[in-house]
Amino acid sequence: TKNDMKGFFMRNAFVILTVIAVIIGIILGFALRPYKMSYREVKFFSFPGEILMRMLQMLVLPLLVSSLITGIAALDSRASGKMGMRAVVYYTTTTVIAVFIGIVMVLIIHPGKGSKDEFTKQQQIEQVSAADAFLDLIRNMFPPNLVEACTKQFKTKYAKRVVHVTVTVNDTIFTLNGSQQIAKEEMIPVPGAVNGINALGLVVFSMCFGLIIGSMREQGKPLKDFFDCLNEAIMRLVGIIMWYAPIGILFLIAGKIVEMDDITAMGGQLGMYTITVISGLLIHAIVVLPTLYFIITRKNPFVFITGLLQALITALGTSSSSATLPITFKCLEENNNIDKRVTRFVLPVGATINMDGTALYEALAAIFIAQVNNYSLNFGQILTISITATAASIGAAGIPQAGLVTMVIVLTSVGLPTDDISLIIAVDWFLDRLRTTTNVLGDSIGAGIVAHLSRHELKKRDLEMGNSVVEE
Ligand code: ASP
Repeated sequence: TKNDMKGFFMRNAFVILTVIAVIIGIILGFALRPYKMSYREVKFFSFPGEILMRMLQMLVLPLLVSSLITGIAALDSRASGKMGMRAVVYYTTTTVIAVFIGIVMVLIIHPGKGSKDEFTKQQQIEQVSAADAFLDLIRNMFPPNLVEACTKQFKTKYAKRVVHVTVTVNDTIFTLNGSQQIAKEEMIPVPGAVNGINALGLVVFSMCFGLIIGSMREQGKPLKDFFDCLNEAIMRLVGIIMWYAPIGILFLIAGKIVEMDDITAMGGQLGMYTITVISGLLIHAIVVLPTLYFIITRKNPFVFITGLLQALITALGTSSSSATLPITFKCLEENNNIDKRVTRFVLPVGATINMDGTALYEALAAIFIAQVNNYSLNFGQILTISITATAASIGAAGIPQAGLVTMVIVLTSVGLPTDDISLIIAVDWFLDRLRTTTNVLGDSIGAGIVAHLSRHELKKRDLEMGNSVVEE
């Protein structure tokens, strides 16, 4: 009946509007392509999309901090320990599976044919060692300045310096012994910073802070109430931005389609590579994660995923899992009724360190680059790639194309040329959107699984605190 229809529309208004926005965005984008807009015109055109990105990013910092602090302070330390363990086991398992799928796909399909003739190199990539990148990952966990952590991530950079080295010459023909000083150029590490918040550092700090506030009981209450209220207020702002999101997504997608390079001009190897990545991501997102969810919770995974649609589309539109975080919260809490204590704890951590799509992609891309270089990898090297790809996905920030930058770690760990990242830059904007969507899906399913596994503790805690118990 008409009333049912109206009810259905009201309940699903956001999702329906967002899907319509995507469709209009795609049509508009292709319709405008023949006009060959200049770079500036594209920027003007996609401006409403840029504003959406900025609004979402604006909320990430207070949302991340307040949700983690209140999420953890709301649990006792044993419950948060257990929940944390479950999350870590889930993140590790799914990331390992993702890397495995990536490796199997690229080995079976073998998109790289051992020649670079078809590629156009686009830019020079900075050289870093895997060890330095690992240390930077740890350094970022402990930001020396919290205010700076809200604006910058730490990164070791290399500066040129001229050093004088003494060489000893021992030439038998002239029976000459002596030493001489020569000047040589050397690279030295200097602290640098990259834009974007140091989410990892803030996550570590907020978790510890929340744990302490929780353990202070009565004394900690003012702080807990403060962050609770901050979190609530931010979520209300998210509720307002949700109304603008479809417009922003429409222009983000249309703008990208107008701007992208001609797809038909894509070389054979690059085309095969793109198909390999897409298949790997699809297997992980449509088969592995839903199966895992079903096995553990015995609930229909696709109903769960339907509740997430708006977050998934936002990830596709923004190619940033951290910008999508506010929407992910809304979808999980409001559509899928996941306990707030779980989402507040698990989602910010997930968005920062759990990136299944990125891990799958990095392992796959590294092996593709090996194939293009006719470089055969032994088992040990493939294992190294899986480990470094996992680390690289943890270190990657949830911002557009971060995974492409952390690829350097994976490549250097097995001696592959880092310059060859430029071979795959042409298609990265597209693959980035798909892996970001996979990342967000992985985080959300993780929250669903952890909530299910922690339901008894949460109920017990409710009874202790005298809260009204919400039945599942
Ligand atoms: N853009 C991705 C994300 O935000 C990270 C990546 O580049 O893989 O999740």
